[in-house]
Amino acid sequence: MKSVVIAGAGQAAAWVARTLRSEGFAGQLVMCGAESVPPYERPPLSKEQLVPGAADMAYLIRPEEFSALGVEWRAATHVERIDRAARAVELSSGEWLKYDALVIATGGRAHIPPIPGFDRDCVHTLRTLDDARRLRDRLLPGRRVLVVGGGWIGLEVAAAAVRRGAAVTLVEMGSNLCARSGVQDLSTYLHDLHVSNGVQVRLNTRVVRLDTHAEGSYTAEFDDGSSYVADVVVVGAGLVPNSDMAIQAGLDCDRGILVDATGRSSDPCIFAAGDVAVLRTADGRGERLESWQNAQDQGIAVAQSLMGKPTRYEPLPFFWSTQYDELIQMTGTAHGVAEWLMRPGGSGTQQTHLGLNGSGKVVFGLCINAPRDIRVLRRSIAEAASLDRSRFADSAVPLARAVVAAAG
Ligand SMILES: Cc1cc2nc3c(=O)[nH]c(=O)nc-3n(C[C@H](O)[C@H](O)[C@H](O)COP(=O)(O)OP(=O)(O)OC[C@H]3O[C@@H](n4cnc5c(N)ncnc54)[C@H](O)[C@@H]3O)c2cc1C
Repeated sequence: MKSVVIAGAGQAAAWVARTLRSEGFAGQLVMCGAESVPPYERPPLSKEQLVPGAADMAYLIRPEEFSALGVEWRAATHVERIDRAARAVELSSGEWLKYDALVIATGGRAHIPPIPGFDRDCVHTLRTLDDARRLRDRLLPGRRVLVVGGGWIGLEVAAAAVRRGAAVTLVEMGSNLCARSGVQDLSTYLHDLHVSNGVQVRLNTRVVRLDTHAEGSYTAEFDDGSSYVADVVVVGAGLVPNSDMAIQAGLDCDRGILVDATGRSSDPCIFAAGDVAVLRTADGRGERLESWQNAQDQGIAVAQSLMGKPTRYEPLPFFWSTQYDELIQMTGTAHGVAEWLMRPGGSGTQQTHLGLNGSGKVVFGLCINAPRDIRVLRRSIAEAASLDRSRFADSAVPLARAVVAAAG
């Protein structure tokens, strides 16, 4: 393998490039990114970066590092098209680049629901550093902020806006916040957290139209006939994978590019990692993880398989969020949970929730302000540990002694 082209220059792309070099790849390595800045991590965009005076973002590969790493970084360059027969990609500059292996790490873009008025520039979404800077400038004390969507990004924006003294209304068309997580206790916790911080949370409510006024405010009409006047509108309605070129090239796709446990797509020379990739699972579900941990680990796995190392990427899902002063961490998958258990932690704000499957094995963990417990739960799930219920019931017993002891 003499040349690798990476489409995308985000978190997964950076880990592919770094790992290829650390594993000894000596060939040509080109990274093409649509943004004009080097790869960076996105979690701060909906947290620290929304606060005035935010520190500059730390890049995953600093501009001056590219040459030392032997990576040809093409900034502000889209990969437009793949010619699989010629093993070449067409760039937005019109240039064609040949590859022996192509890695698609193009992430996703914000989904904008097809609602009249949502196509205007004034509607904020949050995916890039530019988006965060633009929004930061608008989140001023006293502003009326309408957040559309009660998923992670919408909730983090609501928390940041409240912290800045804005009046926040959040609308969610479903009956729960973060419903995709499938964890009712989490939805309830988040609802209470935001309401107690002053957010007006309106569940089962859809925006049907957004009108813009000359003085820079907006009126959102809801499906129950009511309306709300806002100064800022932020939409957090999920992600659309940037898999268009893969679809055009005929790769197997299903809400993203389907890859196996080595990161390989249906074309043996094309790999994918991060938010754009959907891992084929044994039960045929297909799993896209959309998380910091997955972008890093799948990027590393793809580079290792490109280097011919035996690789089986079987991730244990892990996600975190910070809202107000609360740290929320989750691991595992909730869909196979047959029984939920909870115990409060030592301080009033700590909670540890466990999901057990039908055989009593720990398959899911949710921790609020309990980072030690989430580490134990990650290990327990990986080791298919069982639970000693009497120890778990005694909150004086550290979690590690309630689960790990039972695994042996
Ligand atoms: C605001 C926000 C907050 C988040 N917070 C958390 C969190 O708290 N915890 C957590 O676990 N995860 C969080 N995430 C998720 C996590 O950041 C993503 O899962 C991760 O960034 C995915 O990495 P990626 O490399 O796949 O995609 P990205 O980092 O999105 O990178 C993809 C890059 O490819 C570029 N690109 C797209 N199409 C092309 C093309 N055709 N040619 C060239 N370049 C292209 C894009 O412009 C982008 O720069 C957050 C995400 C966002 C947006």
